[in-house]
Amino acid sequence: MNNEHVAKKKFGQNFLKDRSVLYKIVEAMPNNDNIIAEIGPGLGDLTKFLVDVKSVVAFEVDTDLCQYLNREFKEEITTGRLTINCGDVLEAWQSELLDEPYDLVANLPYYIATNIILKALADPHCGNLLVMIQREVAEKFSAAPGEKNFGALSVIAQTVGEAEIVVHVPPEAFDPAPKVDSAVLLIKKTASRNDEVFELMLKTAFTQPRKTLHKNLSARYDKEKVRAALEQLGLSPSIRPHQVSTADYHQLYKLLENI
Ligand code: SAM
Repeated sequence: MNNEHVAKKKFGQNFLKDRSVLYKIVEAMPNNDNIIAEIGPGLGDLTKFLVDVKSVVAFEVDTDLCQYLNREFKEEITTGRLTINCGDVLEAWQSELLDEPYDLVANLPYYIATNIILKALADPHCGNLLVMIQREVAEKFSAAPGEKNFGALSVIAQTVGEAEIVVHVPPEAFDPAPKVDSAVLLIKKTASRNDEVFELMLKTAFTQPRKTLHKNLSARYDKEKVRAALEQLGLSPSIRPHQVSTADYHQLYKLLENI
């Protein structure tokens, strides 16, 4: 089956074959007592490494792959080292994916990667994320203020912890090769997303990234109030959204929402 499985595009199936990247993922795993949640184990190449280190609960949408994994990991499943949930992870995921502390370690399906990361950042049981995703998306989550990719996703990541890129991965590391570059992103959480209004403010702040922050925020808040808040924080009225730090976004939020 391993060699027979035809990758299904609709499920974002690009299997990671480069062992050096698999080693790097395992090396970067946070050292703690959390179990592992793996989304999209696929043909189990990463899963093999993960079950060697920790207990794993995996979610796989493709029923053909579920059958294959159930055969391939019979022993680990019998001993309880590995649990495989067959189905769409987004349907299984209520506010918590698992009922105990876990780290998410996965080569994610790219078509839902941002959604999955945002859900994990909101999930109080998720401690850390170590995920292979499209490089462009990884750069958005890990950008620092002042960098061109710094946006709402960067502020959200910095609000709940620290984000960094562990390694860049070229298309040739996968079979079939994806059309985009990839990267492994590590987010170490110290808190979870829990403020929708703050995130609505961020969305407004970055609506038109090249316009001034003052102009963008004035679509949601009184123009004069925005001007006064920027002045109070010593921020220029012509500052662009990507030039403002996460700490200043939190201060702006307090001033604009009278918190
Ligand atoms: N982990 C494997 C590897 O590294 O080779 C496969 C990674 S592949 C990029 C993504 C995997 O996610 C596929 O196995 C795909 O079937 C699975 N998948 C796609 N959508 C899913 C969903 N909604 N829920 C659970 N698994 C999903």
